Amino acid sequence: MALIVQKYGGTSVGTPERIKHVAQRVARYVAQGHKLVVVVSAMSGETNRLIALAKEVAANPAPRELDVMVSTGEQVSIALVSMALMQLGLKARSYTGAQVRILTDSAYTKARILNIDQGNIRADLDAGFVVVVAGFQGIDEGGNITTLGRGGSDTTGVALAAALGADECQIYTDVDGVYTTDPRIVPDARRLKTITFEEMLEMASLGSKVLQIRSVEFAGKYRVRLRVLSSFEEDTEGTLITFEDDANMEKAVISGIACNRDEAKITLLGVPDRPGIAYQILGPIGDANIDVDMIVQNVSHDGLTDFSFTVHRNDYLKAMEILKAVDAHVKSRGMVGDDKIAKVSVVGVGMRSHAGIASTAFRALAEEGINIQMISTSEIKISIVIDEKYTELAVRVLHKVFGLEQPV
Ligand code: ADP
Ligand code: ASP
Ligand code: MG
Repeated sequence: MALIVQKYGGTSVGTPERIKHVAQRVARYVAQGHKLVVVVSAMSGETNRLIALAKEVAANPAPRELDVMVSTGEQVSIALVSMALMQLGLKARSYTGAQVRILTDSAYTKARILNIDQGNIRADLDAGFVVVVAGFQGIDEGGNITTLGRGGSDTTGVALAAALGADECQIYTDVDGVYTTDPRIVPDARRLKTITFEEMLEMASLGSKVLQIRSVEFAGKYRVRLRVLSSFEEDTEGTLITFEDDANMEKAVISGIACNRDEAKITLLGVPDRPGIAYQILGPIGDANIDVDMIVQNVSHDGLTDFSFTVHRNDYLKAMEILKAVDAHVKSRGMVGDDKIAKVSVVGVGMRSHAGIASTAFRALAEEGINIQMISTSEIKISIVIDEKYTELAVRVLHKVFGLEQPV
């Protein structure tokens, strides 16, 4: 008998039929003697619909109110899933994040989980209930509803699995595992049987939305056994996220290609090249709780340098506003922004021991006439920023040049 946390995404609970299907799967696990905690997302499209509705009323809705609103999507799902389970004769009980007491900080729309109260869940599990928890939401110290950022139900699932010491956290979605790249962009992408946490962390942070990055961080930190599976197919093994040391594998040099169209680039031209300038520019951005991703500072000419960085597109206008104020002191030669960029990344732990990966990638892009605007590398990834319109093409050529497609 095991304690299993199963998380079902939006498409997996997208219709009454899909919800009944989820209930049947849960019932099979219960019949095998397992204890189940089920985390669900809002029905597909619902979160987008709610955000669009808010924006019809206010161009820039107050984040606290936005969270009150978007959290309702998941509340509908937990009730429906519980009802479906009861229809099958199971004992089930639903909980919102606040009812569990998933305590978060107060960063509305991107809150972080601080603590999970397990009391209710444990008591219900012991009494034979399936516990159904709303993903994506929590409550702060002041009793305000918070949400965890898009895709946040994955994090609820893994955090619950960590808190409860579950035997496995299963993420059920609309693909049957983690692929070498988004199978919607490259149809002959290959499913990976295993991927290391380190690689999954890179893939997720670089735009592979199959898992929210914080869920992978949690799983790595608390050593949660994490698996991605299809809710549309039965008995598939999916993809297991492994620790490098326990994975006795013939690793490919490159494990995948990720892409991200959520960023925007900002450049300050000709800023004085002196100590403290990066802090002067990025300090106020950080103070406004805006995450900065790539940063490039160019060679100095005549004591001046160009300074570029990327932020999430949602933060683009706010960042530009802040920089206008900063520029009054920094006195650059001008500021330019571009929110039509994409970041495409090549990921693989094998890169550590292989030279020439970057040049292979750059040659492949050059042959397609794709101009590279920014480059950043780490031990296990190479990221490049390009014009958004070349995203799919870049993903396809990189996937091919590293031989990641399915064998024929
Ligand atoms: P859910 O609603 O179940 O949380 P998501 O849409 O958040 O589902 O995540 C699943 C989607 O992630 C897939 O449909 C796929 O298009 C996309 N995806 C992006 N990169 C990958 C990848 N490397 N492997 C698998 N899926 C990926
Ligand atoms: N419903 C939320 C979203 O669409 C959370 C999730 O699906 O994980 O982002
Ligand atoms: Mg998701």
